[in-house]
Amino acid sequence: MIEITGVHKSFGKAHVLRGVSLSAKAGTVTVVLGPSGSGKSTLLRCINHLEKVDSGRVRVDGELIGYRQAGNRLHELSERQILRQRAGIGFVFQNFNLFPHLTAVENIAEAPISAQGRPRAQVYERARELLTSVGLGDRADAYPRQLSGGQQQRVAIARALALEPKLILFDEPTSALDPELVGEVLDVLRDLAAGGTTMIVVTHEIGFAREAADTVVFMDEGRIVEQGAPAQVLDHPRHERTRAFLSKVL
Ligand code: ADP
Ligand code: MG
Repeated sequence: MIEITGVHKSFGKAHVLRGVSLSAKAGTVTVVLGPSGSGKSTLLRCINHLEKVDSGRVRVDGELIGYRQAGNRLHELSERQILRQRAGIGFVFQNFNLFPHLTAVENIAEAPISAQGRPRAQVYERARELLTSVGLGDRADAYPRQLSGGQQQRVAIARALALEPKLILFDEPTSALDPELVGEVLDVLRDLAAGGTTMIVVTHEIGFAREAADTVVFMDEGRIVEQGAPAQVLDHPRHERTRAFLSKVL
């Protein structure tokens, strides 16, 4: 489902991704760990073309992100084609990023109607089902400011699901939450994982990584230092930097 090969990305003189390669099969959960500034968010942003890679390739479900291949030539996609491609890749942000002037159900229905042109009645029905599936069936008409952080993040997850994405990228989905609200969001992520959603999750929640991940990836200074099954990376890390990081977050 995801194939990343040799990706480099710099911002000015800062070489933020230094040859990242990573692949994940459909239906798997990849958890990305690593210290602040190691390039985790930039990697996610390159996968859905919120950032453009300097070199290397990103493929999602066989499709090259940002380019169309014709013979052995690559053509850059137009802005419209990139938007279409991006719509197939869900992104859940640390700070929820809900539209403040729209209710929960309107937040979820907005993109399927305006970007995908799907019929309104059907989209709203599906949006309400999705709200129920994240435990918020009774809050459809609430505005974001009337919801807790955990509830807002669950709406944001339902919003990502409404586009029926091939995969969902989560960037520290619980980092902005009060500790007592983390569990309700992780429960939703666990349900998605059990249901076979392909996900890449940047998080410091080691317990979640242990239970839900198929692969744990440790990044440091723009490189993948180590990756493998959770038990291997979390309990028997091979690299000193992984050990040092884990000793701080565990
Ligand atoms: P992480 O998510 O692991 O904390 P990031 O991918 O956000 O790391 O950032 C990696 C590095 O890239 C940091 O040093 C950050 O300051 C820098 N960076 C990220 N985005 C930009 C940007 N748009 N412009 C300049 N520097 C950036
Ligand atoms: Mg980040």
